[in-house]
Amino acid sequence: MRSTLLLIIFLLFAEPLLAAVDIAPRGKKPLRLEDVYQQDGVPYIAVEDVIGAVGLKGHWNSVKHIFRIRTRHGWAEISPASSYLKFSGEFYPLKEKPRFIDGRLRVTDSFVLNQLSQLVGRPIYFRNLDPHTDTIISEESSSIDRLFSFLLNKKSRRSGPLIRAVAIDPGHGGLDTGVIAVDGFKEKQVNLAVAKKLAKQLKMKLGVPIYLSRDGDYELTVEQRLEPASHEEVDLWLLLHTQAAFSPTLQGVTLFIRADEVVASPDTEEVVTENSSLQLAQQLALALRESDITVNGIYPSGLLSLGRGNLPTVQIELGFLSHPEELAQLQTSGYQERLAQAIYQGIRRFAQLEKEKKNGFN
Ligand SMILES: [Zn+2]
Repeated sequence: MRSTLLLIIFLLFAEPLLAAVDIAPRGKKPLRLEDVYQQDGVPYIAVEDVIGAVGLKGHWNSVKHIFRIRTRHGWAEISPASSYLKFSGEFYPLKEKPRFIDGRLRVTDSFVLNQLSQLVGRPIYFRNLDPHTDTIISEESSSIDRLFSFLLNKKSRRSGPLIRAVAIDPGHGGLDTGVIAVDGFKEKQVNLAVAKKLAKQLKMKLGVPIYLSRDGDYELTVEQRLEPASHEEVDLWLLLHTQAAFSPTLQGVTLFIRADEVVASPDTEEVVTENSSLQLAQQLALALRESDITVNGIYPSGLLSLGRGNLPTVQIELGFLSHPEELAQLQTSGYQERLAQAIYQGIRRFAQLEKEKKNGFN
């Protein structure tokens, strides 16, 4: 019991809800920025947030398609079309081009540590709070003419994407409501809410494309249902549902994988690689339990014969709308977020295992 409590406390502190960074001119109290997107292991932070945190001002010029930053030494300019920073008539190379992500122009940690610290004229404290990326980098030098001439990169490793893309199917939609609870709450609603939260997690932290079969309340044909999983780069497929039972005491998450994948024996390496749905389900179960969510188990499903046979696929029944307390929980944004967080964690660990398998560790 005590160890469970410790584990929960550990998880609460170990896992920030979203990707975030702390930033400040050295010696000042850091400002926490949470609108951060991870792309290929690199954090992308809105340039307006970043310069604001170090006391600079700037604006987007939509005619010239450049972002101008006001410094004591004049204007600096960056553009999503260029991998250079223009300053005092000179062009300085950027490690990563600024990018528009989710409607905002964003720069990377390398920009903050190298170019921005020069623009401010003092070292910048920067910390990436996402524990899954390489963190804590700081730049001591502040001599204005030194650093612009070369790119200093103290980041130890930039990992490639662990998975290339994810397909998510929020079950039901439109007239097809799925299970309806006693209070009128419909399965299709919670399936979509958790799918959207999960998609956001994956986009922000893994920076990979996420294909949703639907992003609103409408009915799908079988073809539309399968379409997201048919993309070549999709490495796993999750189907989100919620169930109901005659007994009001049943509760918790239940995981389903293709029937033939459950009986496959994990004796030889071949079977293990073919059986990645089971491994994905196991990682999901682990992560959910660590988030203090009940998991009933992993079961075979005869319904899951759809899609590519070897694509890691798990149908997640998010809970029971027939259980009064769970019904109430499933309608709250907080619990939906907790489910999404835990599922994200499971995916990340599964991806890590797959990567280690490919690299020959095991
Ligand atoms: Zn369903």
